[in-house]
Amino acid sequence: MFTAERYVRPATLQEALELNRKRSSTILGGGCWLRLGRKRIGTLIDLSGLGLDQIEERDGWVRIGAMVSLRQLETSALLKERFGSLFADMTGHIVGVQFRECATFGGSVWGRFGFSDILTGLLALDCEVELAEAGRIPLRDFAARKADRDILAAVWVQLDGRKAVYHTVRNAGTDFPVLACAVSCGEGETAYRLSIGARPMKAVSLEVTPDTLETALDAVSFGTNLRAGAAYRRHLASVLANRGIRELEGEQA
Ligand SMILES: Cc1cc2nc3c(=O)[nH]c(=O)nc-3n(C[C@H](O)[C@H](O)[C@H](O)COP(=O)(O)OP(=O)(O)OC[C@H]3O[C@@H](n4cnc5c(N)ncnc54)[C@H](O)[C@@H]3O)c2cc1C
Repeated sequence: MFTAERYVRPATLQEALELNRKRSSTILGGGCWLRLGRKRIGTLIDLSGLGLDQIEERDGWVRIGAMVSLRQLETSALLKERFGSLFADMTGHIVGVQFRECATFGGSVWGRFGFSDILTGLLALDCEVELAEAGRIPLRDFAARKADRDILAAVWVQLDGRKAVYHTVRNAGTDFPVLACAVSCGEGETAYRLSIGARPMKAVSLEVTPDTLETALDAVSFGTNLRAGAAYRRHLASVLANRGIRELEGEQA
């Protein structure tokens, strides 16, 4: 558990950014991950007063605020209407309902965790992240960067007709995934975008057709940890990718 000398709930994102410039400051999302560490924090910056808990459609994009809870993602009528069951499938296995009420979308994206269901799912869509200082940048670029002292305000998902499905394999229903795989297809496209996470490294995305799938997967690195071995993960990647491709083909037929 962490301890903080000072708790602040800023009224503006700019104020939060200024406070966070100090190395001893830490942003508070839902606190579910943060509480696992033994950290002494100078200023704990709570983002809950910034109105970042909204999911809204704007100018051909859906903007998902950083303080939206995982449970909101799972149950949002707007996300369901626009992306089918994708967001519910990405979140529904994460620990339990009470946990998902607390853990935030922003904390999940910011963490760029190797096991992340959220990052894996988002990388199959066309997304940009909105950062307090750096502004809007592609999610792929953000995922490749190391954490710095910026603040994630929101993620924008483009409504460009891309359809996506999401699958994982877990040793137990609410454990971390052994492998996660999202597959998407743009309108009128013949190639599929695969996003493979929990390898157990950070998700990677690649373009494939059914004919190039196995060769493309051979070039992806998979690792071994206490949940599974690399060879099993490589096998699962093929199974989940084929499953996703078949589902999307079925939707197009
Ligand atoms: C036991 C356990 C099991 C989990 N299982 C899974 C799983 O199966 N799949 C999965 O995808 N995830 C899983 N997670 C991760 C979880 O879903 C959240 O991603 C995680 O808890 C972080 O979200 P939070 O709101 O709790 O962030 P916090 O704990 O508040 O913050 C996490 C980190 O991000 C920083 N931060 C938070 N918000 C922002 C922001 N807006 N801008 C900049 N920095 C920010 C914080 O300073 C901190 O360093 C699990 C977590 C736990 C603790």
